[in-house]
Amino acid sequence: MRGPARLTIDLDALAGNWRTLQRHAGGAECAGVVKADSYGLGLDATAPALWEAGCRTYFVAHVHEGVRLRGLLPSAVIYVLNGLLPGSADAHARERLRPVLGSVEEIEEWRTFLATSGWRGEAALHVDTGINRLGLDLAAAAALAARLREVPLSLVLSHLACAEDAAHPMNALQVAAFREARGHYPGVPASLANSSGIFLPGATFDLVRPGYALHGGNPLPGRPSPTRPVVALEAGVIQVRDVPEGASVGYGASWTAGRPSRIAYIHLGYADGFLRAGSGPDGHSGAVVSVADRRCPVVGRISMDMAAADVTDLPEGTLRRGDAVEVIGPTLSIEEVAERAGTIGYELLTDLGRRYERRVLGCGTASPSHSAAGFRSA
Ligand SMILES: *Cc1c(COP(=O)(O)O)cnc(C)c1O
Repeated sequence: MRGPARLTIDLDALAGNWRTLQRHAGGAECAGVVKADSYGLGLDATAPALWEAGCRTYFVAHVHEGVRLRGLLPSAVIYVLNGLLPGSADAHARERLRPVLGSVEEIEEWRTFLATSGWRGEAALHVDTGINRLGLDLAAAAALAARLREVPLSLVLSHLACAEDAAHPMNALQVAAFREARGHYPGVPASLANSSGIFLPGATFDLVRPGYALHGGNPLPGRPSPTRPVVALEAGVIQVRDVPEGASVGYGASWTAGRPSRIAYIHLGYADGFLRAGSGPDGHSGAVVSVADRRCPVVGRISMDMAAADVTDLPEGTLRRGDAVEVIGPTLSIEEVAERAGTIGYELLTDLGRRYERRVLGCGTASPSHSAAGFRSA
């Protein structure tokens, strides 16, 4: 590796994860949730790989994400999860996007648009079964069923609040409420499960909507992951220097060497999504990097463009200027890295930086693609 930091995205693992989740879906269709630039991994690479794996239905959050996805996948079914932005109905029609209608106002706007434009494209109906985010409540979903016959619906969906906690009582309540709600829409396919929901009893219905697990996250916290890691992150060493006992390192002098120490400065900072909250103050376990399978604590404050790792316990000469350390990879899962920064893997992925050398592996990619000029891969 010659660039400062390198993100590797394994499209074969992504495609394999889709097939794995499809197998677990118990006969339901497995869609792909690719909002937020495909969970930070880059839609341009992931969407064609998912299509090639067999994924035909996609979910994004915003219309403009749908427009971009339409450019990549002309034949895909694309749903826009955040609902109908005021005045955006014609944009949906132009790009053949299906809004996920989540309120009475959205339904009325879409119905008016259908009546005046002659567009007959389909939409999804969002029903709220307890997360209290978007969607009609159960009473409204029942009351509006007759009116909605004028609106072609291809999906009724709801979203789980606690799916990653299989023992949470909310899950069974939401499954039961959703079963009731979809009963008002006979013949319309139903979808409830996100990544973790696929592994809950009775939650798969007709279509499942994994995002996190598809992109390499573990949908079963605390248990072995059924999916494979998709991203790896390495950072280069800027320099290794000796710091005497009693000297502090970094902004705020928040960490003081308790012994003569060897510190490696790496090309990775909070501007790269290496969250500042992972700065390990004295006596706390914050972020770590891995060198030859050994964890080295990050010390002092993580700054914008660099971080410091205490490598005193590594054999002399293990790490030199220009070498790479593992930040996310075989020994450091996205869940562990996120937890060490006080957050979740979802946020870690979607915060991944934009100035890495991006190396895309698999699915027939002949050569690595780079998001920034001037880097060469090793
Ligand atoms: C983001 C999202 C998903 C995907 O959830 P994961 O936990 O990433 O699998 C599914 N459905 C809705 C409504 C979402 O907002």
